[in-house]
Amino acid sequence: MKYISTRGLSPALSFLEILLGGLAPDGGLYVPEAYPRFSADDLAALRGMDYRQLAHAVLSRLVDDVPAGDLKALIDKTYIAETYSHGRPDSDYAQITPVRRLEEGLYLLELSNGPTLAFKDMAMQLLGNLFEYALDRAGRDVNILGATSGDTGSAAEYAMRGKHHMRVFMLAPEHGMTRFQQAQMWSLRDANIHNIAIRGVFDDCQDIVKNVSNDLEYKEKYRIGAVNSINWARVAAQVIYYFKAYFAVTVDNDRQVSFSVPSGNFGNVCAGHIARMMGLPIRKLIVATNENDVLDEFFRTGVYRPRDAAETLHTSSPSMDISKASNFERFAFDLAGRDAARVRELWGAVDQGRSFDLKPSGLFDRVPDFGFTSGSSSHIHRIATIRMAWERYGTMIDTHTADGLKVGLEHREAGVPLVCLETALPAKFEDAIREALGRAPERPAGLEDLEALPQRVEVMDADTGTVKDYIARHASD
Ligand SMILES: *Cc1c(COP(=O)(O)O)cnc(C)c1O
Repeated sequence: MKYISTRGLSPALSFLEILLGGLAPDGGLYVPEAYPRFSADDLAALRGMDYRQLAHAVLSRLVDDVPAGDLKALIDKTYIAETYSHGRPDSDYAQITPVRRLEEGLYLLELSNGPTLAFKDMAMQLLGNLFEYALDRAGRDVNILGATSGDTGSAAEYAMRGKHHMRVFMLAPEHGMTRFQQAQMWSLRDANIHNIAIRGVFDDCQDIVKNVSNDLEYKEKYRIGAVNSINWARVAAQVIYYFKAYFAVTVDNDRQVSFSVPSGNFGNVCAGHIARMMGLPIRKLIVATNENDVLDEFFRTGVYRPRDAAETLHTSSPSMDISKASNFERFAFDLAGRDAARVRELWGAVDQGRSFDLKPSGLFDRVPDFGFTSGSSSHIHRIATIRMAWERYGTMIDTHTADGLKVGLEHREAGVPLVCLETALPAKFEDAIREALGRAPERPAGLEDLEALPQRVEVMDADTGTVKDYIARHASD
């Protein structure tokens, strides 16, 4: 399996060749040159597999330059019950991503039982092991530089902590994360983890990362790498749990299932799209946004209009507060019949801060063929949905999952099972839970005193030079 760029001007590469990179040299995103397809017989064989077996079956179709035995070993050490156990009874957490039945035909897919209590662990834990493997083989090391508003940074740090060949430099706004999120990252003691708090907002952090990445000489000299949401391996790892959930809520492969996905950068729901292209009988992929409704606007109107940073609202589902959806280009490429020239034209506009409209060309009419639909949610909806889930189903959900459940229910169809993806646990977003339920969220065992642990963080001005100096001093520790 080779990977090609959505903009068509980069050479095709293998999985390991794109593993550590970000954008393709032509500015596009890597996608499989063709989607491997599971036949009806294949699907029948997948039913009944456990998470690790499924992961191997799916990933071995997408990865052909890691020997089968090595891939299996990497999967087997990543998806173990101990990593996804947070106080759950054995039979449940051994499934890695258990499905919880809320009522007839309505399910919650638990993706947030990993170390940082958000779904990003599902892919990032595998990425940590893949990176270590690839760097080991190449005899290289890498300094991973990232910016986070909360969930991505902690998932990356817990996946990379203590690993060989890599250091993590994670920029986060000094104020703005929840106390729980701060404590998760800043209490880590591992020598290869460097937490940097920036006197500024998330966009300042992101700008510094961009500035550093644009300094090619520096980037080369200090071997700067990234783990952002466009990383192909992250998307690929997320495909697995769509298969797992499908088999969990159906008895045979003649049934269709719909998924509702709280969305920001379009990585998670893009994995659902890929599962569908690989032959999984998915009926609808429901894209749920918060007040930052770039994606909902597209799926309602055909207009993709990235916002500027100043237009981005700070909401109570902060991990979905995005101004543009970085993985969306992968879907647009498929929607445009894999016409790379078309994508170049569209993103030529986007890269200059403009919007595009797919209605006049008729491309927008093809959206239903791909199963996509959408809706948005706002603070009062999410508070009401958290309350409803608690009262009706006895289940406490976080703000992002609430956006997904709210929008999912609006698109629910009789006779079609609806699976809502749980993207974080409520413990991460305590204030909103208190507002909705008048009580503190449940906390997984072992994390009761997280905020009381000593914290280690360097506070810096929002200045690229200061950050560069710091990395230079620590890049060979
Ligand atoms: C990252 C994140 C999302 C958005 O996921 P995308 O893949 O960026 O669409 C939703 N909910 C939570 C809790 C997240 O951390």
